[in-house]
Amino acid sequence: MLCPYCEQDDDKVIDSRASDAGRSIRRRRECQQCDRRYTTFERVEKTSRLMVVKRDGTRTPFDPEKVLKGLQSACGKRPIPEEQKVSLIREVEEELMQLFEREVHSKEIGIRVARQLKSIDPIVYIRYASEYFNFQDLDALSKEVSDLQGEAPIFSTQSDLFNK
Ligand SMILES: [Zn+2]
Repeated sequence: MLCPYCEQDDDKVIDSRASDAGRSIRRRRECQQCDRRYTTFERVEKTSRLMVVKRDGTRTPFDPEKVLKGLQSACGKRPIPEEQKVSLIREVEEELMQLFEREVHSKEIGIRVARQLKSIDPIVYIRYASEYFNFQDLDALSKEVSDLQGEAPIFSTQSDLFNK
């Protein structure tokens, strides 16, 4: 930091604490040149705002609320506690933040929500999957979800049914 008194860039932080409910950091600094003290406030920023690439190629900021709403509508009246939905979305968000730096395809989000739902409620899982993805894509989705889980697909393809 440039010292506001002598404009030298040579300071020592002597104290730092969170302020504004953790949204900023207040630092007490001491200039090593003129020994004067001053205070700085630094805003805590979300480092990278993840952008979602939608099916039509447009981009929109990742919004966990939106993902939650999609999940809620798929749940309908199924007895899944709201808490569980929220923590599911949080887990998906954390995974996305770790795996993707700037952009994530909406499909990647859907797959991860679907994967979690599979173990919570198969009915909601299928509802969510069929709403989130084209029905024609269901085979592909089923395979992708299975690949993630290392399991056999739970949907059988039309051709499988006819071949039996
Ligand atoms: Zn100074």
